[in-house]
Amino acid sequence: MKNPGFKFKQTYAHLPGVFFTRVPPVRVQQPEVVLLNHQLALTLGLDFSENTADEIASIFSGNTLLEGCDPIAQAYAGHQFGHFTNLGDGRAVLLGEQETPQASTFDIQLKGSGRTPYSRGGDGRAALGPMLREYLISEAMHGLGIETTRSLAVVSTGEDVFRETPLRGAILTRIARSHIRVGNFQYAAAHRNVDWIRALMDFTIEKHYPEVNASGNAALALLDALMEKQIKLVVQWMRVGFIHGVMNTDNVALSGETIDYGPCAFMDAYDPSTVFSSIDHAGRYAFSNQPVIAQWNIARFAETLLPLIDPDSDKALSLAGEVMSRADRFYRDEWLHMMRTKLGLRDEQPEDEALIRELLDWMKDVQADYTNTFLGLSRDSLPEATACTDPKFKEWRQRWSLRRQKGSADTGLSDCLMQRNNPCVIPRNHKVEEALAAANAGDLNPFNQMLQVLEDPYQENESSAPYQESGREPYQTFCGT
Ligand code: AMP
Ligand code: MG
Repeated sequence: MKNPGFKFKQTYAHLPGVFFTRVPPVRVQQPEVVLLNHQLALTLGLDFSENTADEIASIFSGNTLLEGCDPIAQAYAGHQFGHFTNLGDGRAVLLGEQETPQASTFDIQLKGSGRTPYSRGGDGRAALGPMLREYLISEAMHGLGIETTRSLAVVSTGEDVFRETPLRGAILTRIARSHIRVGNFQYAAAHRNVDWIRALMDFTIEKHYPEVNASGNAALALLDALMEKQIKLVVQWMRVGFIHGVMNTDNVALSGETIDYGPCAFMDAYDPSTVFSSIDHAGRYAFSNQPVIAQWNIARFAETLLPLIDPDSDKALSLAGEVMSRADRFYRDEWLHMMRTKLGLRDEQPEDEALIRELLDWMKDVQADYTNTFLGLSRDSLPEATACTDPKFKEWRQRWSLRRQKGSADTGLSDCLMQRNNPCVIPRNHKVEEALAAANAGDLNPFNQMLQVLEDPYQENESSAPYQESGREPYQTFCGT
C-alpha cells in the first residue's frame, strides 16, 4: 500500500516505561470510511488520492499499521468529579507523532481502537454516534478559533458495541499537539517518583513551553504558563457559550487544547447555571463554574510539581500559592477583556464591568439566547417582536451605544471587533441531534452541511439561517460513550 505521507516519530515513548504500554489496535471486522477531513489531512502532509477506500479504512481502523507506527497507550490518573482514580488510555492508542510539512508535530490517535492494559472493565470500543459528535463539535470549535484537538477521520468497524442497546461501532482519529494531561503528572506524582515527574516535565516543556527554560525555576514557570493557558481557554469557552461537561483533570491538556468531547454542549438561552450532562447532578461543571473548576484543576497540577518547585516543601507551597492566588484576578481580567470585544468596546472604562453584568442579568431574566443576542447587537438587528422591546433593555442599549461612541464616534472598528467575536452559528443541540440521527440512519448530508456552515461561523449567509434558531426543548447529554 502506498504511504499517503505518514512520517512518524514517537518521542513520548522515550519517557520512562511507566508512562505507557506498547499495544497494537485490536483488529476490526469490516472497516468503512464514514468521514475523512481532507483539509486537515493536507495540513498534516497526508494525501490519500492514490489510496483506495478500503486502504484508507484499513489505516484509520488500525488494521493496517504503516511503517514507523509505534502504537502505545498512555498511563494517566485523574480526579473525576473530584475523586482520584487511576486511568490511562482504555480505548485509544497513539499511533505516533506526525511530522508535518511545516515541521511541526501532531499526535495521531485512534479512539475506540480496542482494549488496552488500562481498559479496566471497558470494551475498548466506541459507538458511531459519539464519535461523529466529537468530530462535529471539535471541528466547530476549530472554526470558532478555539484551541482544540481535531478530527481527521471516522471509520465504522462493522462490529456492534453494546451500551444499553447494540450500536454501530466506530473509531475516531484524533489529532492533538500532544495528549499530555494533568492526569499524566498526577500518575507520576502518585508514585512519589520525582525523577518521573521531572522527565515528564522536561518533555512537556520541550514540546509546549520551551520559553520557561529561561526562567530560574522551570517548574514554577511551567505552572504559571499552564495557569494562563487554561484560563485563556476557558475564557474562549465562555465567549461562545461552550460547556465542556466533564472537566476532570485527565481531560485537561497541557497543550491548552480543548480535549475530550463527551457530554459537552452549547448553551442556547443564557443561564449561568446551565448543565447538560445527565450525571452532573451537583452542577460541578455548570457554565459559570468552569473558571472555578479550571483553577481547581490547575491547583491539582501545582501539587504534582511541588518537589520540583523547591526542595523545601513550605517554600514550594508558598511559591505555588502565589501563582494560584494570581489565577482568579487573571481570569477576571481576561474575561472582562473578552466581554468588551463582544460588545465592541475598544478601550477600557471603569463602568464596563457593570454594563456587561447588567446585560447578562437581563438576558438571564428573560432567557435571551446567548449567541443571538450578541449577534443582534453587533448587527443592530434585534427582532422587534422579542424581549428586546423591554424598556429595561432599551435603556441599557442606549447607554451601551453612548459608551461605544466614547472612544470614537466612528463605530466601524467596533463593529469589526464584534463581528470577529460573536459567532452567527454554533452547533446548536437540536441541529446536532438532527444531523446525528440522519447520519445514524445512513444519510450524511445534514451532517456534512452543518460541518460546512460551522467552518466559518462568523460569516452569515443563506446557509446559516436554519442553524440560528434557539433550541427551546430542555437538553441532556450522556456520558455512556
Ligand atoms: P472519558 O470519560 O472519555 O474521559 O474516559 C475516562 C476513562 O475511561 C479513560 O481512561 C478512558 O480511556 C476510559 N474509557 C472510556 N470508555 C471506555 C471503554 N469503552 N473501554 C475502556 N475504557 C474506556
Ligand atoms: Mg478523558
